[in-house]
Amino acid sequence: MAHVVVLGAGLGGVIMAYEVQDHLGPGHKVTVINKGTTYSFVPSNPWVAVGWRERSDIEVDLITTLARRKIRFRPEGAARIHPAENRVELTGGDSVPYDYLVIATGPDLAFDEIEGLGPEGHTQSICQVDHALQAKVAFDNLVAKPGPVVIGAVQGASCFGPAYEFTFIVDTALRRAKVRDQVPMTFVTSEPYIGHLGLDGVGDTKGLLESEMREHHIKWITNARVKSVADGMMHVEEVAGDGSVKATHELPFSFSMMLPAFRGVEAVRDIEGLTNPRGFILVDKHQQNPTFRNIFAIGVGVAIPPTGSTPVPVGVPKTGFMIESMVTATAMNIASLVEGKEPHEVATWNAVCLADFGDSGVAFVAQPQIPPRNVNWSSSGKWVHYAKIGFEKYFLRKIRIGKSEPFYERLALKALGIDKLKVTHTD
Ligand SMILES: Cc1cc2nc3c(=O)[nH]c(=O)nc-3n(C[C@H](O)[C@H](O)[C@H](O)COP(=O)(O)OP(=O)(O)OC[C@H]3O[C@@H](n4cnc5c(N)ncnc54)[C@H](O)[C@@H]3O)c2cc1C
Repeated sequence: MAHVVVLGAGLGGVIMAYEVQDHLGPGHKVTVINKGTTYSFVPSNPWVAVGWRERSDIEVDLITTLARRKIRFRPEGAARIHPAENRVELTGGDSVPYDYLVIATGPDLAFDEIEGLGPEGHTQSICQVDHALQAKVAFDNLVAKPGPVVIGAVQGASCFGPAYEFTFIVDTALRRAKVRDQVPMTFVTSEPYIGHLGLDGVGDTKGLLESEMREHHIKWITNARVKSVADGMMHVEEVAGDGSVKATHELPFSFSMMLPAFRGVEAVRDIEGLTNPRGFILVDKHQQNPTFRNIFAIGVGVAIPPTGSTPVPVGVPKTGFMIESMVTATAMNIASLVEGKEPHEVATWNAVCLADFGDSGVAFVAQPQIPPRNVNWSSSGKWVHYAKIGFEKYFLRKIRIGKSEPFYERLALKALGIDKLKVTHTD
């Protein structure tokens, strides 16, 4: 009998537990370790921050859901993993031994790297539902007392889609509240150009997003390095191609939301052979750690090198569809190892993204991630807004009923004409 432990029950971790259980079949044991008893659908957080969703709309109780599938659950959270001893140390002091470990702990949010950044400083966040609820209070204050808005992503960030998404959602929400005319909006990003997205652009994301920004009267600063944030004031350097400072900007704001840089969570950071210097888990094309061969990793916590050098550092985004492909490959590879075979499945690591703008949106598909690509497609329209709602409903249903079948993902890729799901990523 094999015991598989999945560490982290977010977007990747829960479906990981379902899929590995399905692939292993009866006679094996699956345990999930998470911080807390609730699953929360992160992609809906931008809607929570403007009051379009309640917390209860996007959360699922993990105790009943996992119990229904006879998956063991430890909600204490991990204090440290001990790869040489094949055990996870929990915060209460207990240890959970494993035969195979899948790390799915998502990002640690590096607000502390910039003075005044984040919900404990002067900017809002949508990375967690608690942050989004706090941002909602600030957004309501903005509507009551309109003033300038600054939204974007700081140096080292990798999650640019939600920054664009939230900019346009705020624009839509302010128009509906009939105060948009009193709110100057600026988008501040470490990307070298609008629509780079950490992927050197996909299709015409540059043209599409620049055009949307112009049409919605949103100014932008690219190659931006946020120096510090004070109460109602952001200090930003604009960097030239040679790395020198081209201009400095003092940006007053009444409301600001900036995506931080990500790093690996503390429980896994600084473990020789397991993580890179940012604490992301090193994996090969089978999602398997090269040093500790019984450890796999999926999701935002996986180390992926940037697509190329940029004046201000930017990371590569890890989106839901990509994570789904990592999950399926990992489940099949662990099942192979349990049967005494070698792992052979390779995740696609394609970037497929739906960025909702509240009443329309932009979608893109990059296959592979790094250009030149076989599929390099982007589009915009109302359908993206409805597709994103469909993704939310579908994914939450999948978590609630405990079904791992990636039907919606397959359908979406089929509709986009991508039926070859398995392509090798670059290591
Ligand atoms: C605001 C936002 C919007 C996004 N929107 C989209 C979108 O529309 N479409 C899309 O495809 N992608 C989107 N993404 C990107 C990505 O899909 C999400 O970030 C996704 O939630 C990542 O999944 P994950 O499983 O890697 O991490 P998470 O979903 O963050 O899950 C990590 C889990 O690990 C747990 N954990 C952390 N530390 C420990 C520990 N020490 N012990 C135990 N458990 C621990 C956490 O509690 C959490 O439950 C978005 C990201 C953000 C931040």
